[in-house]
Amino acid sequence: MAELKYRPATLLVHQGKDRDPATGAATVPIYQASTYHHAGGTPGEYDYARSGNPSREQVEEAVALLEGGSRGFAYASGMTAIGSALALLESGDHLVASADLYGGSWRFITGVLPQQGISCTLVDTTDTQAVKAAITPQTRALFLETPSNPLFRITDLRAMVEIAGQHGLITMLDNTFMTPLLQRPLDLGIDVTIHSATKFLGGHSDILAGLVSVSDHALGKRLKYFQNAFGAVLSPFDSFLLSRGIKTLKVRLDAAQNTAGELARRLIRHPAVGRVWYPGLDDFAGRELHFSQACGAGAVLSFELREESQVKTLLGSVKLPIIAPSLGGVETILTHCWSMSHGAIPARDKLRQGISKKLLRISVGLEDVDDLWQDLETGFF
Ligand code: PLP
Repeated sequence: MAELKYRPATLLVHQGKDRDPATGAATVPIYQASTYHHAGGTPGEYDYARSGNPSREQVEEAVALLEGGSRGFAYASGMTAIGSALALLESGDHLVASADLYGGSWRFITGVLPQQGISCTLVDTTDTQAVKAAITPQTRALFLETPSNPLFRITDLRAMVEIAGQHGLITMLDNTFMTPLLQRPLDLGIDVTIHSATKFLGGHSDILAGLVSVSDHALGKRLKYFQNAFGAVLSPFDSFLLSRGIKTLKVRLDAAQNTAGELARRLIRHPAVGRVWYPGLDDFAGRELHFSQACGAGAVLSFELREESQVKTLLGSVKLPIIAPSLGGVETILTHCWSMSHGAIPARDKLRQGISKKLLRISVGLEDVDDLWQDLETGFF
């Protein structure tokens, strides 16, 4: 594990190479070049932009620093980051994954991996015994989300690391909801952390980006090889925007998390609301476990309305949130999980997971809490 020399707020601003080494400019420029001059036929530090680009390297170093890893990788999207991590598996291998997953991860794991000869068992990873029972002699990895999306199920990461150690498995965790500020999985022994940096790390709903970080040098070497071989790297311009977003992550997340807590407390008291899922609520199942491995509840929550018809009324009424399948922006984002973020999952699987048509997810932005509440409340009736 890399030594954490500075506290996270400082690291966010001074992300490794926090200025241009060539000129001292306050930001690393957008190195918009596909290739590099090989003086006298010999390559210098950079050779071809798929293999390396200073703008991209800055965010790769940043995520490694923030996660406490030895190496980071930046990709064109969160799904590319997930696909690249899962490329560590080979034909004939078996994967155990959390059943309550982001819909796109579910699609990749159930739709793409089997075509590559990799089988998968989806289990409730909050049930440690169920995870143990799902492991076969072919199992090579555990793919986890905690808190899970959209129902905030909390998986015991220390228990998963212990099981993985007993069976020689690679542990992978999608840390998108928490960010490295609230949860540092590599410190708990997780092998691969993954982010859709499209979300909180980018923070402005203006890029698609994915990040991966690892501690182990051998895993890092293999991921570097895959990154260059697949080529779905983060562009210089999007690297610049991501670096810019990362600098303000702490202030954005602190503010959004405070508002999320306040909205969660108001939502549970509202007669139109049946249930609220948010790890910051006092009676939230899994709260103690969550705060034993994370230091904040985050800025996303889910709630269920009492009647399905209320969903249409609410979505037709709200003015402030954008209604969309995403999260982590400066603007509040309201998602109808059934049809948007989890639209790829068949109805019967969604219902089995507890995802109903009455379920909505809010990624809380930076608006004033009273304005947001007024907007939501107007749409409840
Ligand atoms: N992981 C989680 C938890 C997500 O919410 C998403 C997207 O919504 C992804 C991964 C995929 O990321 P991207 O949309 O950047 O490919």
